[in-house]
Amino acid sequence: MLKKSLNQEIGGKQFPLELDLDKSKVEEHPLCGQIVIISNIADEKFLKLRGKKAKVLDVYTKNSQIAALKVSIGTETFIGAKYNFFISRGYLEDIFIYSSDAMGIRGALGDWSSQKDYHGSSWDGLEAFHFELAKTTDLLGLECSETYKYPSSYRFDRDGLDWRYIIPTKPDTVVVNAHSLLHDNVWTLNTTIFNTRECNLSKVDFVGDQDHWRRTLLWTKYFAGKVSLDNESPSELNKRLDKRLNLNLSLNAEVNKRLPEIVSVFKDITGKELILNPLSVGFSNVRTPIPGIAVHEKPSDIVPYSIITINLSALKDLKYLIEVIKHELIHYVIESYKGPSGETHGDLFQEMAKRLNLPRKFRD
Ligand SMILES: [Zn+2]
Repeated sequence: MLKKSLNQEIGGKQFPLELDLDKSKVEEHPLCGQIVIISNIADEKFLKLRGKKAKVLDVYTKNSQIAALKVSIGTETFIGAKYNFFISRGYLEDIFIYSSDAMGIRGALGDWSSQKDYHGSSWDGLEAFHFELAKTTDLLGLECSETYKYPSSYRFDRDGLDWRYIIPTKPDTVVVNAHSLLHDNVWTLNTTIFNTRECNLSKVDFVGDQDHWRRTLLWTKYFAGKVSLDNESPSELNKRLDKRLNLNLSLNAEVNKRLPEIVSVFKDITGKELILNPLSVGFSNVRTPIPGIAVHEKPSDIVPYSIITINLSALKDLKYLIEVIKHELIHYVIESYKGPSGETHGDLFQEMAKRLNLPRKFRD
């Protein structure tokens, strides 16, 4: 599953450019006679010509911006919107054109485009990052560089590490490069995201799963298998993640057991039929910082399914855990109906909670 973002550029694939070719043609534009290269995300009509050189015959502008070019390749001529061409370096814009997949992933991971700092001993930052990454793809590969160290650093071990996630999209691969720095009991993370044709996918081991929480944890395990950082040994982390993967299986079983009753209460009250959203459930402290015990995240324009996350502290008391599950499932069922969205814990929620014998203190 990959969500596509809109290419905001005028003349993009999603917003075809309307031009009056006769009126918008610029006589003797400096680009005329120059060589451009057909972009690797160029339109279908350029499919076999991607990467080839073309000579600019005419330039068309809109609002005084270059909007389209007429080019010749061999004996043929073509007119295309500007995103079809790599223009010479003399033009600052359009040096690199991001695919819509890469733009979508950049949008989803926007939070990580600027620096994030995490406690040195914590893997939570990585889990939070994988959770967001799981919104953009089911499947990814992971590669690590060597760690690096600067001559002036007092640290005895290393100053950081780069690694990258490889997301197999077509025609280009999308790379999410993560750059980490260790310093002063903090690790700082930055990402860069781009599409590339320079990645040999046959050398990459891909790991993934249909379920959001399962792939989030599998990727964190995958990472732990590749890297050893100071904080926790990979084998310790692995054990902990395996335990959570198993706990999540039990949690899923419990959810499946409780759900029919909650759906039937919904139908009794509303008389409405219901198509449930796909759902992923998992335990995590990353999504539910205390005092939050659980959260239901409804589908969005990026994620076409619901996600329920329950804090691990709810495991201390099984009865309590079941009330928490019921509470979140009521949210999930109401959200699946997609009726006019009322208050979060409004009348319908209260009525359902009452009929499901949810203790009062669990109703808000
Ligand atoms: Zn609630």
